[in-house]
Amino acid sequence: MRSHKVAVIGGDGIGPEVVEAGCRVLDAIAADDGGFGFAFEHFDWGSDYYRKHGRMMPEDGLQQLEGFNAIYFGSVGDPNLPDDVTLWGLRLAICQGFDQYANVRPTRLLPGIGGPLRPDLGAQIDWVIVRENSEGEYAGVGGRAHRGLPIEVGMDVAVFTRAGVERIARFACDLARSRPRRHLTIVTKSNAQRHGMVFWDDICRTVIRDYPDVTVDWMLVDAMTQRMVLKPGTIDTVLATNLHADILSDLAAALAGSLGIGATANIDPSRKRPSMFEPIHGSAFDITGKGIANPLGAFWTATMMLDHLGETRAAERLMQAIETVTSRGDTLSPDLGGRATTAEVTDAVIGAITGANA
Ligand code: ATP
Repeated sequence: MRSHKVAVIGGDGIGPEVVEAGCRVLDAIAADDGGFGFAFEHFDWGSDYYRKHGRMMPEDGLQQLEGFNAIYFGSVGDPNLPDDVTLWGLRLAICQGFDQYANVRPTRLLPGIGGPLRPDLGAQIDWVIVRENSEGEYAGVGGRAHRGLPIEVGMDVAVFTRAGVERIARFACDLARSRPRRHLTIVTKSNAQRHGMVFWDDICRTVIRDYPDVTVDWMLVDAMTQRMVLKPGTIDTVLATNLHADILSDLAAALAGSLGIGATANIDPSRKRPSMFEPIHGSAFDITGKGIANPLGAFWTATMMLDHLGETRAAERLMQAIETVTSRGDTLSPDLGGRATTAEVTDAVIGAITGANA
């Protein structure tokens, strides 16, 4: 039997609640499949760990994670700690340390979920956004000088490297090629940013020559926001820089109905190190501990992890189970207008898995 070693980092707020629910669902789909299983190991890293130890994860945290096949992550962020401490100390430390340079976010309006767009437009949303996850505007290069003086300065430098742009462009082309429509939209802002973004365009233009079967169009990032709202059906796979995709993904999440549903993967396509899978929502302290967090985002995330681990049949079946529950509409959490608890939504999805096999 295939055994997948998964590191589970619940993190802060509702993170531990939704990944626990996710582990239950993953165990259920594995048991039902019969061909594979999980060895979960739990890590208590995050803001509480920081309060005890002065760091978000141990110094050798990355070494501890190295041997795993995947990382299943909840969320990070604490109202009493600065975001740059929590984010850079854990989530980004893992993304950058393991060179998970491709951030992948699928977006669809699941059956039964009402988004803000007109229903005929909302139904057309079927996108995957590929975000460059290692450099660009969030490279962490910059500085502050002359603190407190009138001449004080703060700078963040956007870094684009040939190797960095080429590898993410290839990843996006490969992904576009694997989807039925084989269409890629490359997002840029080279009309205003005359160096890094023109360089981005040049390299993307070279890479797409190797993919004659993928149709490509180009969009300025500002115009892209309009297209996502007005003509969602013209978009399939999207490639954008770290900052641009960060913003576009939030718009995508809003158009898909709820923050509680979306999923993201931080992938090291070389597979030398574990990739990390997480729901898109944050730690949501306003509902932490109440047992009402929507676990569907963590479940969709789990389907991406299953896919990455080669369990594609199980991934499809879990996605079907999620969609069965959303379309039935009688077991939804409060953020989706229902009254179900995290545990009840989890039970409903597990029921749909076993029922689907009957
Ligand atoms: P962070 O600073 O970590 O991003 P946040 O609370 O500012 O956290 P989110 O956690 O992303 O931002 O979410 C904003 C709001 O959306 C929350 O206050 C919560 O009410 C709701 N929300 C987010 N995720 C979920 C979920 N899984 N289930 C139910 N509601 C959610």
